[in-house]
Amino acid sequence: MTTREPTILHRASWLVPVSSPPIEDGAVLVHGERIVSAGDYGTVRSQAPAGTCEHDHGSAALVPGLVNAHTHLELTGFAGLIPLPQPGFPAWLGKVFEHRSAFSIESMRRSIDQGLHQLTASGTAICGDINNGSCLEPAPKTSGASRHVFFEVLGFDRQGLTDAVGLDMLNAFAASARRSPAMSLAAHAAYSTSPEVIRDAKGWCRRTGRVFSIHAAEHAEEVEFLRSGRGFCRELLQGLGRWAARWSPPGMSALAYLDRLGVLDRQTLVVHAVHFDGEDWEIARRRGISVCFCPRSNHNLSAGPPDIPRALGLGLVAALGTDSLASNTDLDLFREAVFTLDQYPGLSPEAVLAMITLGGATAIGQAQSFGAIEAGKSSRLLAVAIPESASHNHLAESILLQGKRGAWKWVSSCTNV
Ligand SMILES: [Zn+2]
Repeated sequence: MTTREPTILHRASWLVPVSSPPIEDGAVLVHGERIVSAGDYGTVRSQAPAGTCEHDHGSAALVPGLVNAHTHLELTGFAGLIPLPQPGFPAWLGKVFEHRSAFSIESMRRSIDQGLHQLTASGTAICGDINNGSCLEPAPKTSGASRHVFFEVLGFDRQGLTDAVGLDMLNAFAASARRSPAMSLAAHAAYSTSPEVIRDAKGWCRRTGRVFSIHAAEHAEEVEFLRSGRGFCRELLQGLGRWAARWSPPGMSALAYLDRLGVLDRQTLVVHAVHFDGEDWEIARRRGISVCFCPRSNHNLSAGPPDIPRALGLGLVAALGTDSLASNTDLDLFREAVFTLDQYPGLSPEAVLAMITLGGATAIGQAQSFGAIEAGKSSRLLAVAIPESASHNHLAESILLQGKRGAWKWVSSCTNV
């Protein structure tokens, strides 16, 4: 330990490590950015060095800083521009095209910064952030929440990664990635990205040991296109001058197609998964993919509800994401979690809490530092005020509801002692 930063003991009526059961009268010993130890108060107190600063949060639950597994922060400037909900994906995309020319690279960078502050203000410690090239550096610590950057590639008529991105941009990305493990590639979707580009992007992630992400099975138009080669997606590609005459429709679901391309494994994060059929879920289980659900975004695009209970029942790594402010009203994961509980009354609050912490961290390849309260992990923790009457059985539900009400604070400093 260095002596510059104080060691702080945070105590609360509940410690919720997420990776293990809640502990009554728990404590976390932190030093700087890292957790030193966590457990019951008596044990952790006995490990605290002399001069440790102690902070009792009273009737509260200590929980990990949240993990938003799917955002597009460069679109934060879209807040309020598109009326939500929209009647469908085509209508929504039309609105995006209407507005997007107003956004310069500079304004997208400002959007990312604003987004990171909004994430911090709503309890998120790190996000998986899809980026189309406006900012390929993980955020400086002073900007708020951390980012795991997914540099997104697309191009239905492109023959490979270099063709899709350009050599200069690819070199800039690779240089950033050498400096930080919080960098990955994502392909946009099977209806917007050629099979060669999807394979190349996954290949780079495999070679470098990083998570690959792709949107899949988000809307009915995607299903129609991959089955038949027709409909809105084809017209869109033709209108954009991106249609590739050499492509023939695989005649299968998006996930079956991605499986045929060989890009599904435990290091693949599939986003949306709204239109999965029984065979898709079997593929998902067999390949061990992670899935990030964005229920409010799906609702706002009238895409339909994803089968979250099925994913959890299969034991998949499952996460929640807010998606962007072009399709959502805020970046608040507590709100996403409570919306999810309302939409799926059969889901356990414990499972939803896990989706916005450990599930998200695992899905974006950041579980070594985020998503759970354990020695060595990030000290960016929340203290969520819990009514004294709350029982052990309703703890997770209470955390999510109180979080949505804003009854929480970051616990990273000793200033309130
Ligand atoms: Zn997205």
